[in-house]
Amino acid sequence: MRALCWNGINDLRVETVEDPKILDPGDVIVKVTLSSVCGSDLHLLDGYVPAMRSGDVLGHEFLGEVVETGSGVSKFTKGDRVIVISIIGCGHCWFCDNQLYSLCDNSNATPGMEETVYGHAGAGIFGYSHAFGGYAGSHADYIRVPYAETNVFKVPDGVPDETAVFVSDAVPTGWMAADLADIQGGDVVAVWGAGGVGLMAMTAARIMGAERVIAIDRFPDRLRKAHAHAGADILNYEKVDVHDALMEMTGGRGPDRCIDAVGLEAHGTGPGYLYDRAKQALQLETGRATVLRQAVRACRKGGTVSVIGVYGGFVDTFPIGALMNKALTMRGGQQHGQRYVPTLFEHIREGRLDPAYLMTHRWPLERGAEGYGMFKHKTDDCLRVVFDPSVRPEPGAGAGVGANNTTMGGPA
Ligand SMILES: [Zn+2]
Ligand SMILES: [Zn+2]
Repeated sequence: MRALCWNGINDLRVETVEDPKILDPGDVIVKVTLSSVCGSDLHLLDGYVPAMRSGDVLGHEFLGEVVETGSGVSKFTKGDRVIVISIIGCGHCWFCDNQLYSLCDNSNATPGMEETVYGHAGAGIFGYSHAFGGYAGSHADYIRVPYAETNVFKVPDGVPDETAVFVSDAVPTGWMAADLADIQGGDVVAVWGAGGVGLMAMTAARIMGAERVIAIDRFPDRLRKAHAHAGADILNYEKVDVHDALMEMTGGRGPDRCIDAVGLEAHGTGPGYLYDRAKQALQLETGRATVLRQAVRACRKGGTVSVIGVYGGFVDTFPIGALMNKALTMRGGQQHGQRYVPTLFEHIREGRLDPAYLMTHRWPLERGAEGYGMFKHKTDDCLRVVFDPSVRPEPGAGAGVGANNTTMGGPA
């Protein structure tokens, strides 16, 4: 089969690899219909997540059709249209029993690196390096899904593929960001990052009763979408001082809930940002705390900071004094999507939530490298490129099309 493989920093190629096989009675094989890029994939491309190996298949947000089931699978049959949660739960450990699926004790068979750095390892993730289980990702014709009865969900009739695919990752991740923020009716919620997850967090915050949502980003098109789809007020951090603006908008009190939907490759302005870039380049810190610092400083006393953007290791000059003295609650995590899917499909069917607009580009797998390049540099107002393996590239239809060895262009 064909698969989009990582071969080094910013080097992606479509290669022919072996078809996946059922390895465990709880497995299913899914024929991929749609498979999206995600912001967290960029940390793999840029080399911030260790333990990637040449030939690893990327992709963790996907929808497809069940084509084969293991002997222990009774919930699904051939032909079922399904989404799969990007983070893998086993369904029977203490953490899965408590619906903390992304903390599963069993699905990451290579926990060593996380145990060393974090003290404990979390769940395995599709297409997310050998530190997270070494599972092949979804940018391929087929994918093996372990523990299917826990991680696979049938798509209800009437919900189109273009909507359902995002219930695999962006929607539940954004939902969990809002859930962790503990939003109360009437809250003011500030969200840093208006990418797919940030936009979904804004809509989730609204559904949970937020009175006002403030989107912080630097791309005008993303801010426009935040306003159009989530009714957010918008702040372009390249044009205004974010702290001053947030204070002005909240009468000096600060947002009740602050959500970091950016993570370790945050951009910013001013000396603090330059300091972080230099330290990260020298590998003296593994993430840039630009957003975290702003969120902790702006958050109202007694408020909540929710961290859903991905961090890998350590950040520098974290404002622990502000966190402690302002009595803030800080929470974070990878998504426990298995817990939210039924609720999310209900909101979708009742029209409160429609993530289909996240798909700004639908391309053949062969344009994978080009698609990631566009997504990374946010050109052509790209929010998410979704690969459709059934679409075959037209010969000579542009850079990267049909090529087996296209590497990503553009500045690093
Ligand atoms: Zn993701
Ligand atoms: Zn488990």
